[in-house]
Amino acid sequence: MKEGDELVNAGHINQYLYCPRRYYYINYFDTIEMNFYLRDGQLKHENQSRKGGWIREFYIKSENLGMHGKIDVLESKNIKSIGTTLTPIERKRGSSYHDNDEVQLAAYCMLLEDYLGEPVRLGYLYLFGTNERYAITITDWHRNKVLEVVQAIRDMSLDRIPGFADNPKKCEKCSTAAYCLPEETRMLEGENAKEEREA
Ligand code: SF4
Repeated sequence: MKEGDELVNAGHINQYLYCPRRYYYINYFDTIEMNFYLRDGQLKHENQSRKGGWIREFYIKSENLGMHGKIDVLESKNIKSIGTTLTPIERKRGSSYHDNDEVQLAAYCMLLEDYLGEPVRLGYLYLFGTNERYAITITDWHRNKVLEVVQAIRDMSLDRIPGFADNPKKCEKCSTAAYCLPEETRMLEGENAKEEREA
């Protein structure tokens, strides 16, 4: 399989949208450092109670979409008029969600509809922080964003390191900061630029 042909892990779409550079380190260096935010999120997943009508960790792969991924939870409901419906649920730590989370959920909905051969227009985001879930309607904007990120990830290469996060505050919570060294690199780049100006 040549570079760029690999299926993109839908779970990594969120990482890429958070910061493409972060995705680069996770993907090429396999160096996902465990920090408080990651471990806290994992524990919340592990400790969540199980209820009936839920299918956990449902793996799907799609050559059409260039993606694969494990849907966290699938809610199965029997509705008299239409039969069984399956709805992906993505669980998140914290008490709010962002566009990134919606796009990741959309990726799971797209994988599911490819698998079922029928439209999946709804997913849920469940927030541990509020113990509430939010219905997300999957729009064309979500779908286009998923496809755009999948293509961008497939176009990445080891010799092209993406730039820093758009917002430096993101670096405070980033588990790959020890590899990225944002402050040190910015400082060094500043010094190099100054030397070039003075030369
Ligand atoms: S430390 Fe900041 S710039 Fe570096 S990978 Fe993390 S979020 Fe991106």
